[in-house]
Amino acid sequence: MADNKGVMVFAEVAEGKLSGMAIELLGCGQKLASDLGQELSAVLAGSNVSGLAQEAIAFGADKVYVVDDPLLADYQTQTYVAVMEKVAKQVMPKIILFGQTTIGRDLAARLAFRLGTAATMDCVALAIDPETKQLSPTKPVYGGNARAIFAYTTDPQIATVRAKVMSALERDASRKGEVITIAAGLDPSAVKTKVLQKVKEEVKGIKLEDAPVVVSGGRGIGGPDGFKQLEELAKLLRGAVGASRPACDNGWIPDSAQVGLTGKIVTPELYIAVALSGSSQHMAGCSSSKVIVAINKDPEANIFKEARYGVVGDWKKVLPAFTQKLKELLAQ
Ligand SMILES: Cc1cc2nc3c(=O)[nH]c(=O)nc-3n(C[C@H](O)[C@H](O)[C@H](O)COP(=O)(O)OP(=O)(O)OC[C@H]3O[C@@H](n4cnc5c(N)ncnc54)[C@H](O)[C@@H]3O)c2cc1C
Repeated sequence: MADNKGVMVFAEVAEGKLSGMAIELLGCGQKLASDLGQELSAVLAGSNVSGLAQEAIAFGADKVYVVDDPLLADYQTQTYVAVMEKVAKQVMPKIILFGQTTIGRDLAARLAFRLGTAATMDCVALAIDPETKQLSPTKPVYGGNARAIFAYTTDPQIATVRAKVMSALERDASRKGEVITIAAGLDPSAVKTKVLQKVKEEVKGIKLEDAPVVVSGGRGIGGPDGFKQLEELAKLLRGAVGASRPACDNGWIPDSAQVGLTGKIVTPELYIAVALSGSSQHMAGCSSSKVIVAINKDPEANIFKEARYGVVGDWKKVLPAFTQKLKELLAQ
């Protein structure tokens, strides 16, 4: 383990820019690197991505490894794992961080297997143990009901990090760093899949994962009309509407609104849970919200154990009154 050094971040690129997740990871990686007294590097992999190297430096990277190849234009598991394996074996970092994104989840676990090490998924806190100098990741377990801290016995120590739990650094365009190009060395015949079409998910208003306020409805909402009332409240608070799985399964709201273990993970400032019971599978997607407010007619509902504020009552009476009061306050 002694030969591995430094912290490496896989910097995802979205629509020609560093993703928000990449910027958060650079902030978190820089803190870990300085606690270790070592460098932070970023890996930029893709097609036509070399122009983003300075941006990664401005957000905290000391070194940027650029792997620019037309075969990396679309994310594909085979090509990206091969590239990350090559970079990791060449650079030998002590820690490698990915975002808890579709790509990060896929890559981290596969890379850990290739490198004979372990990955801790969906971390909400990362620190360097002052005694062992090893990465000490914290992640929610048992559907978000408890938090566990893990320890590694192998290098590199790989972790995926949940969005919005780490602070990005202020962009500093004057920061200096080194840019190193690494050839992808991919054999085109080894690429077994082809991306034929990409369909962008239509989002009305603010994206659920980015919203500072989420108003979520559950089975107790009873139908699509109820969700229109949640939309009105979300709009007033400049937020987005989420839902529990039964509400999506019933077709009251698109599946893309599902929050939870098998849905989206959100970390808003305010999560308003309306007529949902607060199952562990649902809480796995929202337990890191700063403040949870619950409206439920059942005083024994689990959501009241999770919420900071709660109203016991029928949402059909509570929500209109709440929305009306809010309108009055906003008009002042
Ligand atoms: C592998 C697996 C993965 C899963 N993944 C997810 C996931 O990602 N997300 C998810 O949400 N679920 C998920 N589930 C389902 C989960 O177990 C629960 O069944 C689900 O979260 C319950 O949704 P709910 O709270 O809307 O419904 P319920 O548990 O039926 O709760 C409805 C609530 O509404 C309240 N209510 C009813 N009428 C009113 C009213 N008029 N006014 C006020 N309150 C009212 C009731 O008191 C009750 O508390 C998963 C399950 C499994 C097995």
